[in-house]
Amino acid sequence: MTEEFIPFNKACFEGKELVYIAKSIENGHISGDGPFTKQCHAILEKETGAHKALLTTSCTHALEMTAILLDIQPGDEVIVPSFTFVSTINAFVLRGAKPIFADIRPDTLNLDETQLESLITPRTRAIVPVHYAGVGCEMDTIMQVANKHNIAVVEDNAHGLFGLYRGRPLGSIGCMATQSFHETKNITCGEGGAVLINDPVLCDRAEIIREKGTNRSRFFRGMVDKYTWVDIGSSYLMSDILAAFLYAQLEGKDHIQEHRSRIWDTYSDGLSSWAVSNGVRLPIVPEHCQQAYHMFYILMPNLERRQALIAHLKKNNILSVFHYLPLHLSDMGLKFGGQAGLCPVTEKVSDTLIRLPFYNELRHEDQLRVIDVIREFRV
Ligand SMILES: *Cc1c(COP(=O)(O)O)cnc(C)c1O
Repeated sequence: MTEEFIPFNKACFEGKELVYIAKSIENGHISGDGPFTKQCHAILEKETGAHKALLTTSCTHALEMTAILLDIQPGDEVIVPSFTFVSTINAFVLRGAKPIFADIRPDTLNLDETQLESLITPRTRAIVPVHYAGVGCEMDTIMQVANKHNIAVVEDNAHGLFGLYRGRPLGSIGCMATQSFHETKNITCGEGGAVLINDPVLCDRAEIIREKGTNRSRFFRGMVDKYTWVDIGSSYLMSDILAAFLYAQLEGKDHIQEHRSRIWDTYSDGLSSWAVSNGVRLPIVPEHCQQAYHMFYILMPNLERRQALIAHLKKNNILSVFHYLPLHLSDMGLKFGGQAGLCPVTEKVSDTLIRLPFYNELRHEDQLRVIDVIREFRV
């Protein structure tokens, strides 16, 4: 008898989503910046300490907003880890920037801050670190190098909401940060995101860019008597219906994070001795980082054994997945000068990493089955 299928990810509900969506329809305000959007902003500002949080249609769009806010111009250079999602850099390339690919640290798989100095040129305008798996990058060093050269830091915090670096919330350290509420993230509304503005100087213009380049937000606050076109911009507001869904999730954040921490610990405890005896590496979380429990990955010794373990899990009706392909070796990355060997740690990790099923409603007995099936596997 084949056992029930265990997916890699599943859309999960906290409970009040439909109630709040109904409320938003009753409110008669289903476009952007309605009552639920404001409540989400308040939670995000309180939890991250951001000067201003603004919900957006996605993390990708939040990143695009940061590129516009920084006035990125054609030929400007932006440093990103090669091991990340395309949007981390595409948002800047849309403004004409040239990506500069940094390798990652072998322990946390975060941008290798020791390489930064060697990648900086007079054209460097921004560094976009990604807190991979919700574990903080070495932000002290990154900020020190960035400040020395007068370069902006935008944290792509899609994985890191509610994580801490030396006691400071991830997303609160760079001049801006971006969040994702895509279905695969800890807190979701299907598709959605937010930009966190930590430098107050950027706030007014952020509102304008998000409102199609108009000063509509100031108009609604009664600060101007008509609204008009004042800058470039686009339509980056999330519908209040989605914000209603998101509010139900944000309200349940302690429950969600607590459950996810238990899932993470169960994998870690259940797989540690198997990992040691099979030469497999489990995630490393430095002492000074409080992680956000976004994912559980394992690092196999090589590509062939990685594919074999994915196949073994699949045979047992469990879906596990690999993650990012190195950006510097993608079709676009090659056009920007990427070549094999440029980021060796990224290339190795991309070949050997597996992400295990991880979602808010993952049942304990299902998770124990995943662990058992993995422990049967000889590397
Ligand atoms: C998910 C993700 C994004 C994109 O998020 P969307 O909300 O889907 O646009 C960007 N960066 C990282 C690191 C991500 O994991």
